[in-house]
Amino acid sequence: MTDQSAITAHPPMSDPADYYDISRIRPVVLEKLRRVNELGATKFAARARAVDDEASFPVENYRDLAEEGFLGLCIPEEYGGWGFSMWEYAMVGAEIAKYCGATALTFNMHNSSMAWSRFMFDMPNLTPEEKAAFAPLRDRQFRRAIAERAIFSQPISEGGQNWTSKPNQTQCRKVDGGWRINGFKKFASLAGYCDYYTIVCTEVFEGVEPRHEDTMLFVVHKDAPGLSVKGEWDPLGMRGTNSRDLILKDVFVTGDDLLMPRGIFGKTLPNWPHMMATLSPTYMGVAQGAFDFTVAYLKGKVPGQPPIDRRMYATKRIAVGKMYARLANMRALWWQAFTEAKGFPTKGEVMRMYAAQYNVMEGAAEMTSMAIRTCGGQSMLRSLPLERMYRDSRCGALMLPYTSEIMEDYLSILTLYDMDEIDTAPGDEGGARNSLWRGDSGTLRALR
Ligand SMILES: Cc1cc2nc3c(=O)[nH]c(=O)nc-3n(C[C@H](O)[C@H](O)[C@H](O)COP(=O)(O)OP(=O)(O)OC[C@H]3O[C@@H](n4cnc5c(N)ncnc54)[C@H](O)[C@@H]3O)c2cc1C
Repeated sequence: MTDQSAITAHPPMSDPADYYDISRIRPVVLEKLRRVNELGATKFAARARAVDDEASFPVENYRDLAEEGFLGLCIPEEYGGWGFSMWEYAMVGAEIAKYCGATALTFNMHNSSMAWSRFMFDMPNLTPEEKAAFAPLRDRQFRRAIAERAIFSQPISEGGQNWTSKPNQTQCRKVDGGWRINGFKKFASLAGYCDYYTIVCTEVFEGVEPRHEDTMLFVVHKDAPGLSVKGEWDPLGMRGTNSRDLILKDVFVTGDDLLMPRGIFGKTLPNWPHMMATLSPTYMGVAQGAFDFTVAYLKGKVPGQPPIDRRMYATKRIAVGKMYARLANMRALWWQAFTEAKGFPTKGEVMRMYAAQYNVMEGAAEMTSMAIRTCGGQSMLRSLPLERMYRDSRCGALMLPYTSEIMEDYLSILTLYDMDEIDTAPGDEGGARNSLWRGDSGTLRALR
């Protein structure tokens, strides 16, 4: 059978040098950014339509990424990974998304699991005892990702509840030799396609109300007895993420299955707030992809389309100018914010990150909408990628815990109130501010 991906032409896309100061990017990273563009143009883009139509999963894209080592990009070099920083990961994710949003979004779930093990271990507020307990656990996950080429997912959401407002409703209870997990995860991207699920749950004790400080993270194998994937998956966009429901019924885990020792999540995540902004690279890339498509379309350079030159219309030129200005704005802030990603950021760095998340999630939807308006009627036919990008882009603003609404709230609170007033600032009826960065106190409000 002919490999369609090898023969399908793709409209010319931008190069990282078009929007980054590449003198600031390590040569090895730039090489990978360009390699992802080759994979995207020759393979991912051609597969994206079928994955979207069928709401299936980009299995072949993962095979390609795994073969070239991309699944280990966040893993330290001593384990056989590439040791990329969060900023370098973000750039790779954004390049993938120019061609297939669902691949980039799910790639983030895998990388986030690796990043949690990688960066939280390096936090200066961990004691030597905590690090000693953490070390063998992260070893196990890194080795699985490299030796088995294992893919990890990160199902945290439970539906109808912000997982930082209340303790996770998925619960584990101590039994002989380990724990039993029971619960339900909504929107478990990669469901049925990953090798391991990173499960966030609350340990419960007789006679004690579930508490945030008892949050536990386990890595559960896809074939673990009691774990099943259920439900329909027929969404508006990001259809290739296969984010179905995950049911956990008496799933048995041991101490070896912990992603990190008890207590470390609450001690580290609030002090590494950029960690939860890692969905934005996908939407940055979708916005860029929509812009690149618009340029190619107006020049009559989309393969398979009549070579109609539409550049003579002043209205379209103005629209492209506006799109470029919006995109450059998003890109600059987003890039800056990710260069600052680290443990214990300053208030200014955190606010720039919130603003970047907000601008990218809102801006991606605006960009794809403007792209369709500017290109015109034929551009929304399903044979072209723009209408898929339009639907995919709509999903960014609602990703917890940094939804656009929540970002508006956090930015306003950090602007209008001093740090010692935040706990008593009005308007947090839903408890969304539990994931708000709280400065040197460095903890979720619920953990104080
Ligand atoms: C394509 C796609 C893939 C996804 N993949 C994953 C994944 O892999 N892992 C994962 O964990 N999740 C994933 N999600 C879920 C996502 O992060 C959100 O949890 C989900 O979209 C929330 O939708 P909801 O209808 O359940 O809740 P919503 O009703 O949108 O919000 C849930 C609750 O959060 C609180 N809340 C929300 N907004 C506010 C606010 N402004 N102020 C106060 N409280 C607020 C409220 O209690 C609300 O009931 C995915 C979502 C999509 C669309």
